Amino acid sequence: MARVFNFSAGPAALPVEVLEQVREEMLDWHGEGMSVMEMSHRGKAFVSILEQAEADLRELLAVPSGYKVLFLQGGASAQFSMVPLNLASDNQAVDYVNTGSWSKKAIAEAKRYCQVSEVASSAAVNFSRVPTQQELQLNKDAAYLHYTSNNTIFGTEFHYVPDAGTVPLVCDASSNILSRPIDVSRFGLIYAGAQKNIGPAGMAIVIVRDDLIGNARPQTPTMMDYLPQAENDSCYNTPPTFAIYVAGLVFKKLLAEGGLEAVEAMNIQKSSMLYSAIDNSDFYECPTELASRSRMNVPFTLANSELDGDFLKQAAAAGLVTLKGHRSVGGMRASIYNAMPVEGVAALVDFMESFARQHG
Ligand SMILES: *Cc1c(COP(=O)(O)O)cnc(C)c1O
Repeated sequence: MARVFNFSAGPAALPVEVLEQVREEMLDWHGEGMSVMEMSHRGKAFVSILEQAEADLRELLAVPSGYKVLFLQGGASAQFSMVPLNLASDNQAVDYVNTGSWSKKAIAEAKRYCQVSEVASSAAVNFSRVPTQQELQLNKDAAYLHYTSNNTIFGTEFHYVPDAGTVPLVCDASSNILSRPIDVSRFGLIYAGAQKNIGPAGMAIVIVRDDLIGNARPQTPTMMDYLPQAENDSCYNTPPTFAIYVAGLVFKKLLAEGGLEAVEAMNIQKSSMLYSAIDNSDFYECPTELASRSRMNVPFTLANSELDGDFLKQAAAAGLVTLKGHRSVGGMRASIYNAMPVEGVAALVDFMESFARQHG
């Protein structure tokens, strides 16, 4: 069996140790005589899996008391609607930072329910940077301020947490959650689709401050109301049991590795290796501004885009796959989430250098 180094933006690589443990436990989880997929979500075995996953996530992110942790369905995109439905009343003013495709989707959804102001946008520079705090034109009466902490498609990341004053701060952290420590107490709500840095697709994790629960507008579908989800510990209906189990194994692994400080150090190392290889070459170029560069998604272009096809073909032959850039940026994109080992980045850098020597 040959595992490739998978640079996909999502669903993305999972830690091989986690996949091995899943395989190990597939037919008989801890003597239950069945897989996690086959268990009742109300039974003792699964409830213990869910409680442990939540406890480990709380420890990893140092989630303070006064916040609920929810494991929900519908991915991150369901949160594009749940946030305005739960946090704002009809036509209330809400603030959004526009930093690219995912923010735009969140904004479009919020516009169905609220008065959205775009408090800053980097559209004019094709989203190659994120705005600074000084650039945010905040409305102190907004129901919340929403931003996307890492822009998966454009390869930019906020390296600061916006200061929204007393306005609740809402963050789509789908593509950089668990990549670095964050101060959860700065946020009203953090959400993330699981398939980039957490586990299988189809699940979203929501960390929400207690006072923001229970205010959903009356027409909100029950499944999209944070209150019944919180009151039932994410088991209002059948939760994504297998995804929760795999996420729990990922949390355990990150804790064993030393928690998010250690994870962040590794992510700084991996992303620096790749950005240095790009910056030290005349053959490759990175379209993002230095101060906004993402540690998770690294876009780059070749000096001659006619070589893109050859680059992708030869990279794949070397076991380096899913490097094609998003169509809105072009070129390549290497997504190097937590589960990408440093060896994978080293192999990519070696390949890039040898490809540049051949074609430069
Ligand atoms: C992938 C992604 C989403 C969408 O996630 P789904 O789970 O597919 O809905 C939203 N926001 C960001 C920042 C993403 O990277």
